[in-house]
Amino acid sequence: IGEPSNEWREYQGAPTGTEIECEGWRQEAALRMLNNNLDPEVAEKPEDLVVYGGTGRAARSWDAYDTILAELRDLGDEETLLVQSGKPVGRFPTHERAPRVLIANSNLVGKWDDWEHFHELEAEGKIMYGQMTAGSWAYIGTQGIIQGTYETLAELGRQEYDDDLEGKIVATGGLGGMSGAQPLAVTMNRGVCIAAEVDTHRIERRLETDYLMERAESLDEALAAAEAAAEAGEPYSVAVEMNVADMLEAMDDRDFVPDVVTDQTSAHDELEGYYPSGYTVDEADELREKNPERYVEESLDTMERHVDAILELQDRGAVAFEYGNNLRGQVEDHRGREDVDSGMWPLSGSDPEDRQAFDFPGFVPAYIRPMFCRGRGPFRWAALSGDPADIHRTDEAVTELFPEKESLARWIDLAQEQVSFQGLPSRVCWLGYHAEDDADGLTERARFALRINELVADGEISAPIVVTRDHLDAGSVASPHRETEAMKDGTDAVADWPILNALLNCAAGADIVSVHDGGGVGIGNALHANNHVVLDGSELAAEKARRVFTTDPGMGVIRHADAGYEDAIDEADQSDVAVPIRDR
Ligand code: NAD
Repeated sequence: IGEPSNEWREYQGAPTGTEIECEGWRQEAALRMLNNNLDPEVAEKPEDLVVYGGTGRAARSWDAYDTILAELRDLGDEETLLVQSGKPVGRFPTHERAPRVLIANSNLVGKWDDWEHFHELEAEGKIMYGQMTAGSWAYIGTQGIIQGTYETLAELGRQEYDDDLEGKIVATGGLGGMSGAQPLAVTMNRGVCIAAEVDTHRIERRLETDYLMERAESLDEALAAAEAAAEAGEPYSVAVEMNVADMLEAMDDRDFVPDVVTDQTSAHDELEGYYPSGYTVDEADELREKNPERYVEESLDTMERHVDAILELQDRGAVAFEYGNNLRGQVEDHRGREDVDSGMWPLSGSDPEDRQAFDFPGFVPAYIRPMFCRGRGPFRWAALSGDPADIHRTDEAVTELFPEKESLARWIDLAQEQVSFQGLPSRVCWLGYHAEDDADGLTERARFALRINELVADGEISAPIVVTRDHLDAGSVASPHRETEAMKDGTDAVADWPILNALLNCAAGADIVSVHDGGGVGIGNALHANNHVVLDGSELAAEKARRVFTTDPGMGVIRHADAGYEDAIDEADQSDVAVPIRDR
């Protein structure tokens, strides 16, 4: 990837303020969001262009980064820049309402769509892992995932305990870019979190940013502190520097059964994401360098032990769920390969010997799908001014606009109190399609975006706000081990939906549109799309917002209605969403 660019060193994050370097705010927003992704406060390893999620990058090389910046500065209001796996490859005359930037990352043709082929091309500098929001320039640090993690755990509390997580202990792994949100999301739900993390720097970073309360010197110390906090009903989080597979096995050996067990290490990538047991981080990094085949073998063996430990704790009463890192899929594939040789796969049944990796559920079917049916998903916005006051004004606007949503108001209060900004001040909340008659048929997301656009036009917000979202959204992903696991009609692997989502959002005039392969579950396991809309207070921005924030959540409603979900059909009926075959 070359040496870090001088431009990046000079920026050290997104430029802020109301003066712009580009021809218009749409291009400027792309430039600021790309630099925000690579802000040392935001990205995990910005000097390697790595933003989060294993090796999720924002640009393919430093040369590609410099060229993207130069292109954006020069890009006209009637032109579109094409970025292919982090490299700018073309620029065409289009028109004002078209996207300014189109991005495709990590996509391979089906038969070649695997890590092996990807890594070969990556080593030759021909492709880049875009993760989800890394390569689409929509990452906003750990704050981006915090509400999703909070909502998931809140739903778990409601389903399993009829309440929040007070007095409950959650055991998990990973304190990286996204996984680092787990301890704070647990404590926001009043629970106790014990997190295993192999990398001491990641633990320090979560302590510094108040996502984590304490680190323990040993597992026994962590267990004692966690049990005391749970007994007292106090929110508490603690990290232990160890491999998560070792931690869960040790809990089992000590007859310590957490109430909830999950994981968010980068298991989707067995070579560059997950750490095998038995090595320090430095030793493992050296092994990866010298003997990648052996690293992969050991990494997958640790994942097997990891899954077995989760299943064991589940058998002993813990609520277990996979948190979207393809841990189960990795183990299934690994065992599949081995056991095909020994003629043992597939196995099934309740005998511990016969357990299968997928004997514990993923978080989407367990806790998120009902929200997706209504087009609800994580919607995020960043203040291009860099001024936190702008985000506080949007906080007021969202609570004023939806006074009936008590949990939204609670979320905004908690976020203001407990979530530190990283890079550009930003906020996340989950809004959906729902279009009330008395709101002129506008969706929730469109109402909010239009209100922000008005505040920018009135000067109550000092510079444009860019609205984007996670790729994990209602109608933008095909991912059989995550967002589309166990779909009612068996269409888990049908990938037409994210492609339609991207095409439709281009048609609706989003300012950046992207389509990626891989994301949180690894190459070949998912296709997903994203978009940005820049709210600069203009009539053009209002027109784009009205369209995109209808089409985008609308895809969630029609995708789930098509699969036969009653909630989605009900939402389509209530909100007047056209579902042609049904409407006939
Ligand atoms: P990251 O690479 O920044 O962090 C992962 C962390 O796990 C690192 O700090 C690493 O040191 C640690 N780790 C790796 N192997 C370990 C092991 N065996 N034991 C203990 N610690 C270990 O990645 P991230 O952004 O935090 O994402 C983590 C995973 O979660 C990814 O697979 C990602 O795709 C997935 N993810 C899921 C969601 C979701 O919505 N459910 C959202 C974001 C990310």
